[in-house]
Amino acid sequence: MQQMTLAARDQQVIWHPYTQMQTAPQPIAITRGEGALLFDDQQNAYIDATSSWWVNIHGHAHPHIAEMLSKQAFQLQHIIFSGYTHAPAVELAERLLPLLPANQKRVFYSDNGSTAVEVALKMSLQYWDNKGQRRHKFIAFKNAYHGDTFGAMSVSGRSVFTRVFDDLLFEVHFIDLPAADNFDTLKATIEALDLSTIAAFIFEPLVQGAGGMLMYEAAPLDQLLAWLQSHQILLIADEVMTGFGRTGKNFAMENCSTQPDMICLSKGLTGGSMALGVTTCTSTIYDAFLSNDKLKTLFHGHSFTANPLACSVALASLDLFTDPACATNRQRIHEAHTRFLTQLQQSPKIKAPRLQGTILAFDIITTNADGYTNNIADQLHRFFRERRVMLRPLGNTLYVLPPYCITDAQLQEVYDCISDLLQSI
Ligand SMILES: *Cc1c(COP(=O)(O)O)cnc(C)c1O
Repeated sequence: MQQMTLAARDQQVIWHPYTQMQTAPQPIAITRGEGALLFDDQQNAYIDATSSWWVNIHGHAHPHIAEMLSKQAFQLQHIIFSGYTHAPAVELAERLLPLLPANQKRVFYSDNGSTAVEVALKMSLQYWDNKGQRRHKFIAFKNAYHGDTFGAMSVSGRSVFTRVFDDLLFEVHFIDLPAADNFDTLKATIEALDLSTIAAFIFEPLVQGAGGMLMYEAAPLDQLLAWLQSHQILLIADEVMTGFGRTGKNFAMENCSTQPDMICLSKGLTGGSMALGVTTCTSTIYDAFLSNDKLKTLFHGHSFTANPLACSVALASLDLFTDPACATNRQRIHEAHTRFLTQLQQSPKIKAPRLQGTILAFDIITTNADGYTNNIADQLHRFFRERRVMLRPLGNTLYVLPPYCITDAQLQEVYDCISDLLQSI
């Protein structure tokens, strides 16, 4: 009997995320990665132009990450994180906090971006409860995406992703993105709410990822944040996607003078090699949970909280991230993106070309409505698959978000492939 391919075996037992299993093409079986390249079981090389769902920053199978992981695996793989601690978790917190806005003083570990958001939401609700105030409402931006668990879904824009669950999600006030000319309108919208019921405002600084790589300016965001903070509304910066250099600076919040009360991190935290989430907070938040009263405890935790293997690869990733070569690479990508953007602007097939740090995005003009369900996405998937470039459009929004180690030649290949696509449609 002929041996089944990995993809065929997969199709008998696996259910993939965000995949219509009846119509999706067979998955590509990847057997190894190196730098920005991934190799399938036929030894074809693919360029990873979207960092494997925005997580990879230093490239695949990085030897430094592999070595630190291996060393840690021979030392300690996992322990309970309540009543016990370990060096990778402590060292990671010690090294991470100084990279963040100066008011961030505590690290709470979880497993992924959605849980990092859940923790921040629960921290803010209980912060107010511990202070004797009932504040059960949140403010978020329209088109926001903060994850797939129920709390994270609730603070995300209502969309095809949430449709089935909409009536189970808690109520959130959604506001427009800040722009140079809408501060007074935003202020009026927020002032019309009962501010004493608002626990926190959660936002993706500068770039709304899953919402379609929507970009907005730091100055009006900063103005809005300062105003909200002066009205005692807690600020949760969801830097799950923007963190670790993605928007140019180390963290997107470095573009603002207002410091958030909480920050959510995941994706690039481990260099994209393992699942780990972090919620950081100020001493003001942390102190509100200190009490002789056990009911003021933050009752949240996961079996794999602060997994030592994940923390040790996060430390390895930080070694690479804090090396000046990393910032140089991000700058190099930004400059290449800038040149390609000028070229894109000439194309009559696209609109809204935009750029923030290492992220380049634009929308393909189609006769259908914009958005995730735009059926041009399948056509684009097929095109890029055949060209062996991993690009995964969000509806009619196409974006390039590469690992920082991508070479100039690989980046050029991605641009050429996009230019060919635009010629062909
Ligand atoms: C991806 C993402 C999340 C969710 O992270 P997961 O690890 O996929 O749960 C949350 N917030 C933002 C901004 C994201 O981009």
